[in-house]
Amino acid sequence: MAAQDVMEKIVSLAKRRGFVYQGSEIYGGLAGVYDFGPRGVELLNNIKKSWWKANVYDKENYYGLDSGMFKHPKVWEASGHVGGFADPLAECRNCQHRIRVDKELANIGVAADEKMSEEQINELFDQNRDKIKCPVCGKKDFTPAMAFNLLVKSNLGDFTSEGGEPVYLPGEACQGIYLDYKNIVDTMQPKMPFGVAQIGKAFRNEISPRNFLFRTREFEQADTQLFIRPNENKEAYEAIKQDRWNWYLSLGINEKKLRFKQHENLVFYAKDAWDIEYEFPSGFDEVEGIHDRTDYDLSQHQKFSGSDLRYNDQEKGEKFIPWILETSMGMGRVFLAVLCDAYQEDEMDGETRVVLRLAPHLAPIKAAVFPLLKNKPELVEKAREIYTNLKKEIPQIMWDDNGNIGKRYRRQDEIGTPYCITIDFDTLGENPEQKDTVTVRDRDTGEQSRMPVSELAAFLKSKIQ
Ligand code: ATP
Repeated sequence: MAAQDVMEKIVSLAKRRGFVYQGSEIYGGLAGVYDFGPRGVELLNNIKKSWWKANVYDKENYYGLDSGMFKHPKVWEASGHVGGFADPLAECRNCQHRIRVDKELANIGVAADEKMSEEQINELFDQNRDKIKCPVCGKKDFTPAMAFNLLVKSNLGDFTSEGGEPVYLPGEACQGIYLDYKNIVDTMQPKMPFGVAQIGKAFRNEISPRNFLFRTREFEQADTQLFIRPNENKEAYEAIKQDRWNWYLSLGINEKKLRFKQHENLVFYAKDAWDIEYEFPSGFDEVEGIHDRTDYDLSQHQKFSGSDLRYNDQEKGEKFIPWILETSMGMGRVFLAVLCDAYQEDEMDGETRVVLRLAPHLAPIKAAVFPLLKNKPELVEKAREIYTNLKKEIPQIMWDDNGNIGKRYRRQDEIGTPYCITIDFDTLGENPEQKDTVTVRDRDTGEQSRMPVSELAAFLKSKIQ
């Protein structure tokens, strides 16, 4: 299947089965924003739970955090987000490569003054479009130039701070961790090294959002920052890389579709940087960055805030600005990787079916309960009883009595439900040996086995751990 077809099928399934909707769809949509529907929010929350478990509960020296989205305007100056990105950029519509329009104009001898407005630059750009081609693919089809700052501005507090600096939405979630580093040190008294983990929203004015959830303007990041002693980075960095790799495997992702990629060009303060990439239908691309960042982030915040951010190690009698090892993962990208990895078309019972082979702990619905026939009150009554009891123990249980059993199986396969439980006349005792047993059908193999009702909850729990 061509890559684009696979992606289109996944996008269509995500919509059809309530995983992901285009944001503001009834108004024609808002580019780069998506909503997670009833099935999607469950899958998303399950990924988050798994991440939180791996990065907070399974560790002894990591603390969880949920910082406010709005931050002091100086934060984005300290981080380099303000001031660094105000270039007139245009993007190639064919390959998405971005060019600096002022530079390209200069290359062909057209001077674009840096004080020119976006409109004036675009006037020059339009007059010279036939002379500027994309250095990557050679096409001459560009978006208009935009004075480009990735940060999204808000007008929070405008009524009080006349002419003051704008308050931005977070361009990355990790800044909240740096801002609360001192609070955590003061209130939790952590020993070195210690980590902070946070899942938070980020907003970026991406010039061309694309590839469904891959590049959006509103997204979530799951970040960890490990605060370490200066120069104690090497071993810890390798351990983090391995740990993060293993987490992807724990999601059930095919290891062959994952790879590490080292950054070739490091920013001046960084010691090392690797991405974990997943092979999407369009090819390998970044889902997470792992960065060895030295003391740059806290030094910047110490400089801009005037607060003393040194760690006071009383045992060793030392004060120092900790170095940071960071992991930063895009939740939407991992959600998309999980969907792509789980999506399969195979043959079952002589039919082609679409199935999401989601790991049971990630599946939005853990089991669906069916009465064999919906017009037999005694079957429905027994099935409702089993459904209600199971739901008390495992909330993600679904009732379905719509259409024939085959259709119900197909619907559950499409949303990745690992088990379907059918209540039939044997359950009621038509065959005394089978009384109070049900049929449990396995999503991946299609195999059906009988199981006592009393064992169902324990069986399901053992599978979704
Ligand atoms: P890219 O090079 O793809 O733009 P990046 O290197 O700018 O990504 P980081 O700033 O390191 O990304 O952000 C960390 C993670 O956040 C990325 O690995 C990615 O998973 C996610 N992310 C970044 N930008 C977006 C976006 N526009 N939409 C969805 N996820 C994103």
